[in-house]
Amino acid sequence: MFYQSTRGKTKNISFIQAVKMGLANDGGLLIPQYIPVIKEDLSQLNFRELTLYLMKIYIGDEIEESTLWELIQKSYSSFDTDEIVPIIKKDDIYIAELFHGPTLAFKDIALQFLGNLFEYILQREEKKMNILGATSGDTGSAAIEGVRGKKNMNIFILYPYGKVSPIQQKQMTTVEEKNVFCIAINGSFDDCQYIVKKIFSDIQFKQKYMLGAVNSINWTRILAQIIYYFYAYFQIHTKGSVYFSVPTGNFGNIFAGFIAKKMGLDIDKLILATNENDILSKFVNTGIYKKGKVTNTISPSMDIQIASNFERYLYYLFDENGEKIRHLMNTFSKYGEIKIDKQKLQTVQADFLSAKATETETTEEIRNFYKETGYILDPHTAVGVKVGRQLRDKEKPLICLATAHPAKFRKPVEKGTGMLPPIPPSLQNIEKKKEKFTVIDASFEQVKTFIEQYALR
Ligand SMILES: *Cc1c(COP(=O)(O)O)cnc(C)c1O
Repeated sequence: MFYQSTRGKTKNISFIQAVKMGLANDGGLLIPQYIPVIKEDLSQLNFRELTLYLMKIYIGDEIEESTLWELIQKSYSSFDTDEIVPIIKKDDIYIAELFHGPTLAFKDIALQFLGNLFEYILQREEKKMNILGATSGDTGSAAIEGVRGKKNMNIFILYPYGKVSPIQQKQMTTVEEKNVFCIAINGSFDDCQYIVKKIFSDIQFKQKYMLGAVNSINWTRILAQIIYYFYAYFQIHTKGSVYFSVPTGNFGNIFAGFIAKKMGLDIDKLILATNENDILSKFVNTGIYKKGKVTNTISPSMDIQIASNFERYLYYLFDENGEKIRHLMNTFSKYGEIKIDKQKLQTVQADFLSAKATETETTEEIRNFYKETGYILDPHTAVGVKVGRQLRDKEKPLICLATAHPAKFRKPVEKGTGMLPPIPPSLQNIEKKKEKFTVIDASFEQVKTFIEQYALR
C-alpha cells in the first residue's frame, strides 16, 4: 500500500516511509492511497489475529508476515489481559475497555505497537531516531512506555506544565531510562502541539535530527486503532448496525472509527462526545469549525481546541482533493475558522452525531452509572457514556469506548462515586518516585535548542 498527503503534494510513500515521516513533507497528513473494503468474515479471529489480518492490508509486503506477527505479539504481551480489549455489558450499554495496557489509557494500544515498529525499522536500516511528541496527558506516558530503554531512540515529550493530572505527570517524569526527556511547557496543550508541528515542518531540522512522530499524525496510530472497532463489533454478536460513542479530543480515536466504517464495518453512527472544549461538536452540529480558548476540565486528555487529525477527515469530506485541503488549511491558519455548506454538513451528519458534556454532567454520569451498575467510569469515558446515552438509537447496540482506567483520575472519580478507585499495581509507589523534567517557555526556538543539545546523532 502506498501513502500520500492530504495536501496532495507528497505522494507514493511506502508504509515504512510513512511511519518515519510522521507529518507529510508538504505539511499535510499521510493517508493510504485507498481505503480497502473488507468482505471476508473476520468474526472468529481473536484480537491479535484480527490485528495481523487488518494491518497486513495496509502494510503490504514491506514487513514479512512472521515479523509482523512477532511485533504484534510483543506489543500486546504488555497488556494485563489476554483479551486485550474486554467488552463488558452494563445495562443496555457495551463498554469496550481500551485501558488494559501499561499506562492504563487507550493510547497504549497504538503506542506499544509503534514503539516496537520503530525499533524494528531502525534496526533493519541501521539508523537512529529522535522521537518528538506533544501530550495532553496520556500520549506522553504511553509513548514513553513504548520506547523507554529501546536502542537507537531518544524521546522528547512536551506537555503543558501543571495541566496534566498528577498521576499523568508522574507516569512520564519518573521513568529512569536515559533516552527519555520530559519537557514541561509553560503554556497549553495547543501550544505544545503547535511547537511540535512547527519543528516537524522545518524539513531540514527534521532530517538532520531524524525526528520521528508519535502523535496521532502518525498513520500507525490510526491503523492500530481501527482494529478494536472491528473487534468490538464482532464480540457483541449483532447482525445489524451499531453506534459507537467516542470521547474525543484530537479526533484520532474517532477517525479510526470513521475509517472502519469506510472499510465496510456496519457502524450506523459515530457519536463524537466532547467535554467543554466543544469545537468539534459545534462543527458536527453547525458546520463551523472555529478555534476558541482551551478550558481545563476533569477530562484533561480531551482539553484540545485544534484537533490534529481533523484534516484527515476534511480530506475525505472534500472528495480527496488535496489542493482544496491545502487551501482550507491555509484559510484556517489565517482566520481560525472553516465553514462548510449545507450539503457537506449533511454528509458529516450522515456519519456523526455529537454533543458535549459539561463538568457537572460528567460528574453526574460517573455517579449515576456507578449507582445503577456498580461500574466506575473515568471522566473521559463518562463524557462518552453521557453523550452516547443522549444521542443513541435505543433500537441499536451502543458501544462506548472506555479510554482510561478510573484510577488515573482519582479526584473526579471520588467526587462522583464517593470513594477512591483502587490503585492498580502499575501505579502503586509512583507517588514516591523521583521526577525528572525540564521546564521551558512556550517557545519554538527554546525547544529546538534543547533538542539540539540532547538528540541522538
Ligand atoms: C487521548 C485521549 C482521548 C482523546 O482521544 P483522541 O484520539 O485525541 O480524540 C480520550 N480519552 C483519553 C483517556 C485519552 O487519553
